[in-house]
Amino acid sequence: MYGKFGELLGRELDIIREQGLFKEERILEGPQGAEITVGGATVVNFCANNYLGLASDPRVVAAAKRTLDEWAFGLSSVRFICGTTVLHKELEAAVADFLGTEDAILYAACFDANGGVFEPLLDQDSAIITDKLNHASIIDGIRLCKARRFIYEHADMADLRRCLAESQDAQFRMVATDGVFSMDGDLAKLSEICDLAEEYDAMVLVDDSHATGFVGATGRGTPERFGVSDRVDVITTTLGKALGGALGGCTAGPRELITWLRQKSRPYLFSNSLPPLVCGATLEVLRILREDPEPLKALARNQLRLRSGLRDLGFDVDEGDHPIIPVHFRRHDNDALLAQKISADLLAEGIYCIGFSFPVVQRGQARIRLQASAGHTDEHVDRCLAAFATVGRRHGAIT
Ligand SMILES: *Cc1c(COP(=O)(O)O)cnc(C)c1O
Repeated sequence: MYGKFGELLGRELDIIREQGLFKEERILEGPQGAEITVGGATVVNFCANNYLGLASDPRVVAAAKRTLDEWAFGLSSVRFICGTTVLHKELEAAVADFLGTEDAILYAACFDANGGVFEPLLDQDSAIITDKLNHASIIDGIRLCKARRFIYEHADMADLRRCLAESQDAQFRMVATDGVFSMDGDLAKLSEICDLAEEYDAMVLVDDSHATGFVGATGRGTPERFGVSDRVDVITTTLGKALGGALGGCTAGPRELITWLRQKSRPYLFSNSLPPLVCGATLEVLRILREDPEPLKALARNQLRLRSGLRDLGFDVDEGDHPIIPVHFRRHDNDALLAQKISADLLAEGIYCIGFSFPVVQRGQARIRLQASAGHTDEHVDRCLAAFATVGRRHGAIT
């Protein structure tokens, strides 16, 4: 039976390849870090979500090893049968404390946190109002839920107001947004979103995956950054980016809501517990964030040097201060080709970053996306800027 189906898949894969949309995976030949080895060459990595450089921090690795020795490898259970250890409870308390919420619940990934947050809370009498550019896991989580869905244009507060006005007959409403949008590194307008939500009596959920640990004065994320921590009802986030980068996710919020999720959230009830070593290492990450201001400072310094350095060279770079730095080619009509050629030549110069073009982003919006990390040294940043200067001039992107 598979024969014909396999042929069909083969043809579809060929089409994707012909369209240039086939995603090749680059294979790392060593650990994640500011420098990585690919194809036998060592290059500086500007495309990991390793914002705080903690993925290979010796303190985090040591904590994982200690926990592995003490707690062994796996739990072979979901949480409610025999998969909850004191480490899981400690980590949930530490995450809630860090995010300033009453409680938090762990998942295997933020994808699961978002997959399991809407369906238990909102039924057909409720409504979810969501930014058009929200992450795939929010979109999928909403699909699993019977609530009516209202989508507003990206960051368009007038359109959000329209959705709120049109959904007034719903019993409960929730506005769901990414705290930071990953393609441009732009922040959700959380103050305005909270104002509107308050005016229309809606709850607010923020997925802070690209913010937890490093956005806001002490890294508590976008609610801290906008001073709305007490007005955001629910936060979902990942342990797989700044917080050590292994895996895991969580939902943080008021006590009853989290308790309800423990009873009803399917990816929590029917999927395995996080490995103890991930809990132990993440507890160490949160300790580092409380006690060591250096990673946050280094990230801010590197972000600023990269962004202003690229602007000084004449590249088309938005203003902002998030470590996601998109380099646009909007002034050139061959933007997609430029982004592709420049990122390929940068790799040859030892700088690894990714070019995005249509259909991942809108036509004419091709860009190279850089991500700064606390793990980068001044020399890494200088090498990146020098390579951008050489390659950018070679291809006429700058003069
Ligand atoms: C990365 C990301 C996720 C997925 O996180 P995982 O823990 O890797 O599943 C969810 N939401 C947003 C906004 C993200 O950027």
